[in-house]
Amino acid sequence: MTRNNSHKNSIRKEIYVIAGIFAIVFLGMIFYLISFLKNDSKEFIYNSYNARFSVFADDVTRGNIYTEDGHVMAKTTKDDEGKEVRVYPDERLFCHSVGYVGKGMAGLEARYSFDLLKSHITLKDQINNSLTGVKSQGDSLYTTFDYDTQKAAFEGLGLFDGAVIAIEPDTGKIISMVSKPDYNPNTIAEYWDDINDEENNSSVLLNRATNGSYPPGSTFKIITTLAYLREHSGDPSFSFDCKGSIDVSDYTIHCSSNKKHGSEDLLKAFSNSCNSAYAYMGINLDRDKFIKTAEDLLFNKELPTLLDSTKKSAFKIDGDTKESIVAQTAIGQGATSVSPLHMAMIVSAIANDGIIMEPYIADKIISEDGEIVSQTEPVSFGRLISQSEVDLLNDYMEAVVMDGTADSVDFGDLKVYGKTGTAEYSNNKKLTHSWFVGYATDNNGKKLAIAVIMEGAGYGSKYAAPLAAKVFNAYFEK
Ligand SMILES: [Zn+2]
Repeated sequence: MTRNNSHKNSIRKEIYVIAGIFAIVFLGMIFYLISFLKNDSKEFIYNSYNARFSVFADDVTRGNIYTEDGHVMAKTTKDDEGKEVRVYPDERLFCHSVGYVGKGMAGLEARYSFDLLKSHITLKDQINNSLTGVKSQGDSLYTTFDYDTQKAAFEGLGLFDGAVIAIEPDTGKIISMVSKPDYNPNTIAEYWDDINDEENNSSVLLNRATNGSYPPGSTFKIITTLAYLREHSGDPSFSFDCKGSIDVSDYTIHCSSNKKHGSEDLLKAFSNSCNSAYAYMGINLDRDKFIKTAEDLLFNKELPTLLDSTKKSAFKIDGDTKESIVAQTAIGQGATSVSPLHMAMIVSAIANDGIIMEPYIADKIISEDGEIVSQTEPVSFGRLISQSEVDLLNDYMEAVVMDGTADSVDFGDLKVYGKTGTAEYSNNKKLTHSWFVGYATDNNGKKLAIAVIMEGAGYGSKYAAPLAAKVFNAYFEK
């Protein structure tokens, strides 16, 4: 009896020890699994050439990318042989933002690769999938894009090279961003050599909206106007008698079609986009203050944005710059260059009572179960323009649309504030880019800011402004 009992006790002890070891090993595995899921270094996954990348892709099906209103921008499906392929259903529509997977990675695909290859389905489901050899579904990325607005911008730009970018002013959400020439991310590997052919030199992969570098043309008169207001303590008194052209040193600046605008105040000079008045204004500005205003509006600076890489805009005058060059700079010619994103940010700040919000396109990560894994909160960069300056600029930009250079454009029932531009980009003055920058608002106070540039198209009022109207209509129709 006693012997039997002690034998039983010893067996029981062994069972406890073995169970304990199993429990420790099991807990260790769980702990490893959790820490692997939660903490695995992003660098491994960002580098597409890293072997760990494919290890991750073995366990998780790359998540989808969506517009804000739920259209699929990128998804993973299987080909005839059961191999996973990445598909972009709208082909070129979002190419510069979504990017691609295939020849390395670019765009959101690269930036959010880590998140798309993580799965936040329940741990139980993940373990179950792992044991049965089924892949877990990766998390999805929801962007800020509105599908119909993007489509209107893409189709409106048509066969022109150029860019359209539309921003929600009070959040910085990018509602639409198009750049042309474009490419089909579904076939990027197939056409890789053509796309990168330097002879071809069309910079297909370049996102012109964020990294294009353009002469701003008359859209820059917004900045020159601000410089004038700031130098005169906000007093908008100004008068000029336009004779159709003005001589500055040995250089003559012409108004569009040499039109004699006659006697003008600041509002008239702005809404007529009078080059003579602005050349005169420019050469009489205090040069240091002019430079300071441009830099306050983020020229020569990194743009505050949550986007990956953006082009710095350049404003290149100093104390030694010839007067004729300063005059050209005041009307957006000369050595000044901007990205469409930057111009959209400036008008977005005007639309948002002077406060600039940092633009972004990645809104949130959502698990297959619908749980929000992470969400971008709008970030304010602070005030660029005072409220009294905003009030004056609103008057001037409204006059452009009501009875200025854009008065022939049909914006429907929307209230629109804008500035057209026709920017010369070569010594042959007949070659001009067509610009429109501004914003629209409806009766509910909803707003959309926009910058449109159509390369080589001609007058801003004839091409870029009507395209802006199409984009506004698509957005506000909802
Ligand atoms: Zn004039």
